[in-house]
Amino acid sequence: MQIVKTIEEVRAAVRAWRADGLSVGLVPTMGFLHEGHRSLIERSVADNDRTVVSVFVNPIQFGPSEDLEAYPRDIERDKTVVEGAGGDLIFNPEPSEMYPPHFTTFVDTTETTELLCGARRAGHFRGVCTVVSKLFNIVGPDRAYFGQKDAQQLATVRRFVRDLNFDVEIVACPIVREADGLAKSSRNTYLSTDERKAALILSESLRQGKAAIERGERSAQAVIDVIADSLNKEPLARVDYVEAVDLDNVQRVERIEENTLVAIAVYIGKTRLIDNFIWK
Ligand code: AMP
Repeated sequence: MQIVKTIEEVRAAVRAWRADGLSVGLVPTMGFLHEGHRSLIERSVADNDRTVVSVFVNPIQFGPSEDLEAYPRDIERDKTVVEGAGGDLIFNPEPSEMYPPHFTTFVDTTETTELLCGARRAGHFRGVCTVVSKLFNIVGPDRAYFGQKDAQQLATVRRFVRDLNFDVEIVACPIVREADGLAKSSRNTYLSTDERKAALILSESLRQGKAAIERGERSAQAVIDVIADSLNKEPLARVDYVEAVDLDNVQRVERIEENTLVAIAVYIGKTRLIDNFIWK
């Protein structure tokens, strides 16, 4: 397992693999890797001859009042996870390698980024799409792996890959959870003991929403109300959004049909957590 910091080193490694006729998978991450990331890496290792994991806390996807400085970083631990999962190369660039002076070109999206996190985190998806485009151009992977945990990100990446004709297959991977149901996230490390207990309300409330659908409820608003009522019972939780949208275009739906994404964002104390399920 190799770790490199420059674009030229990544390109040299991939060129050598390509010369041998090998296929390449890419797993973009912000590091502080956990079992969720690991599942993406393992899937890529299973599908491809070589796997590149990018570890980059992308400054342009954080708003001015967000947690860029505080975001957890531990590249030594990340190395162990990537090695353990069978990855071949970590690309861990400095921000200056990715954003040289006079960097002025961005990938901007509409439709899929109007609601949910796109409505609350100004510039977030512009930053995500720009960095993911750059990673696709740097690595040139056959396949790239994204978690369903960030469902709006996944829909948006799929869209810009289609719209801008990137020659890469996007592979979606299921949400990996803690034993008690909390979706794994690097941001879970921010939670105090009490907040960690309170954070269970996210998966529990989604479970209640899903149960309502299983009982036959098809009104999106009724399902949203079930979830919001449950979230509001937890004193440490502050709801940012509860939405039911079409999985592909991320626009609101009135009825829960196949391909409906039910997504929530909730502050537990100062930590903003997201979770979702897809109704099929
Ligand atoms: P991040 O490092 O948070 O930017 O995440 C990098 C990738 O890992 C994204 O595609 C995420 O959707 C995915 N990911 C993060 N947490 C999980 C999880 N609990 N289960 C599955 N995938 C995840």
